[in-house]
Amino acid sequence: MAKHSFQTEVNQLLHLIIHSLYSHKEIFLRELISNASDALDKLKYLTLVDETYKGLPFNPRIDIRMDEKDHKWLSVSDTGIGMNDQDLVENLGTIARSGTRIFLNQMTGDAKKDSNLIGQFGVGFYSSFMVADRVEVLTRKAGESKAWRWESDGKGEYEIKEAERDSFGTTVTLFLNEEGKEFASRWRIEEIIRKYSNHVPFPIFLHFEKTEYDDKGKDKEKKQVEEQINSASALWKRPKSELKEEDYHEFYKTLSHDTEDPLLYIHTRAEGTLEYTTLFYVPKKAPFDMYQVDYRPGVKLYVKRVFITDDDKELMPTYLRFLRGIIDSEDLPLNVSREILQQNRIMVNIRNASVKKVLGEFQRLALEDKEKYSQFISQYNRPLKEGLYTDYGNREILLELVRFKSTKVEGYTSLEEYVHRMLPDQKAIYYITGDNEVTLRNSPLLEAYKKKDIEILIMDDEIDEIVIPAIGKYKDYELKPVNRSDAGEDLKSEEDKPAVEKIKRALGDRVKDVRVSVRLSDSPSCIVTDENDPSYKVAAMLKAMGHKDLPEVKPILEVNPNHEIVQRLNRIDDPLLIDDISVLLLDQALLVEGVPVKDPADFVKRLNRILTKAV
Ligand code: ADP
Repeated sequence: MAKHSFQTEVNQLLHLIIHSLYSHKEIFLRELISNASDALDKLKYLTLVDETYKGLPFNPRIDIRMDEKDHKWLSVSDTGIGMNDQDLVENLGTIARSGTRIFLNQMTGDAKKDSNLIGQFGVGFYSSFMVADRVEVLTRKAGESKAWRWESDGKGEYEIKEAERDSFGTTVTLFLNEEGKEFASRWRIEEIIRKYSNHVPFPIFLHFEKTEYDDKGKDKEKKQVEEQINSASALWKRPKSELKEEDYHEFYKTLSHDTEDPLLYIHTRAEGTLEYTTLFYVPKKAPFDMYQVDYRPGVKLYVKRVFITDDDKELMPTYLRFLRGIIDSEDLPLNVSREILQQNRIMVNIRNASVKKVLGEFQRLALEDKEKYSQFISQYNRPLKEGLYTDYGNREILLELVRFKSTKVEGYTSLEEYVHRMLPDQKAIYYITGDNEVTLRNSPLLEAYKKKDIEILIMDDEIDEIVIPAIGKYKDYELKPVNRSDAGEDLKSEEDKPAVEKIKRALGDRVKDVRVSVRLSDSPSCIVTDENDPSYKVAAMLKAMGHKDLPEVKPILEVNPNHEIVQRLNRIDDPLLIDDISVLLLDQALLVEGVPVKDPADFVKRLNRILTKAV
């Protein structure tokens, strides 16, 4: 009846799936079973809490049928929630999440790279078109009388017609292409289900033809039989002692659509005032949408094994959004309103306890498996730093978990390790912030510290600049930025030179102040910002974010009293020369910090005047 066109992004996704996932064709079955299982979850919930659905006969199951003779088709049926015509258009013709659209735009067209990216991305229903040249969806929504047939060859258009279906639920039939023929085999299907979907909590039945023999071993008759091929129990409710690592990994893949094993899993059963089970996973690679505002949450909520929601970002704090897994509560009411879940006392308690548990496990990993922990840090250091800022209650443990680059170690260091390496009389933890590691490592600001063998943390992550000043302290040690004006105090030896006055006069209001520096050894000058001003980087970030009327941040110029240029300046009286040298001292200090010179023409003019004098 009605022909529709796929949304552009669907075409893009289809193209992508077909071209980058062909070596993992078999995942189409995992995706179809996972959709069927979701549809059963949704209806199960409604039959338990919603009056209009309570009377419906609900016999949850997934059935797989196939044409083992001619290998022409394969179907996956469920007795779940089903779809009406409108649902079909919305679900199987468009891509609703902007996160998915952004993901698609990141695709390079390089099949190898893309398949890595797409590996952890739920490709869903559309993966059927890898093995079928036509797909038909016959479906009827629970509580409605009309059924619908959706049909497409995956080439830009689909069709929806009214149809007949005895009961509610959905049947997806794949008309197999050359590539797909191998899947019309009982053994192949069993193997795939064992691999990916063994722990789907609903029974999966496989229908096949069985030849029965009489006692004499002669062919008797061919019979259609069905056989349940999965365990259909909620894995997370089973005792840990019964479960092998493999079982956990397999379940993770069904849950997350990831093709890789997880880095870590944490299975907890709480008994006592509150009764609940949690199973959390940390993916090896950070979810592709981790830094997108509309990231898809990875934790699902169940109440007594009934699925409640997988779309609640409040189940765990935002900074732990990379976690995948399940929370199953025995105490929450089934019809807990999804809107007020965040305020529910039981939920709040489960959440708090889960965060503590998970962070504790991260700490254990840090102690017990350094290599795995550095793999973890390579992916999740940044979200943990967000936690430092947003989860005050867990700040102490988060401070033990985050890692930083440093002038004294390769790779990353913890704050604890830094403190162990501190000099006997050192009172503070020093760090420098900026966006380029190499520039930071070569910054003249570090010279005097290096001479005194004081370690500096190199903070080149843009979040550091926001988070670290807000923390202020680790244990009893103050965290001090070396690019702020007060940080050199402990290095200071009182010493002043008339040069400073000359430079100050020459620079006028280009600078906030000119001071003698104690932190420079080879460079003649450097800039710092006042401890009350935002740093250059933050000021630039705020500007980029649209803050227009920020007061201009003026630098404080520090000069090295031991440097030859500065010492000679003491003896010079030529005002033009003093002027040139002063401006050049300022401009070179800005340049080293990565701040562009305000007036390049003026800079060059002055430089040439000095060069002329030199030659
Ligand atoms: P995803 O499952 O990741 O949302 P899919 O492309 O696989 O993406 O499916 C899109 C949507 O179509 C699903 O979210 C669901 O609403 C609907 N859908 C798919 N299969 C079924 C099914 N068997 N029964 C009911 N709804 C389904």
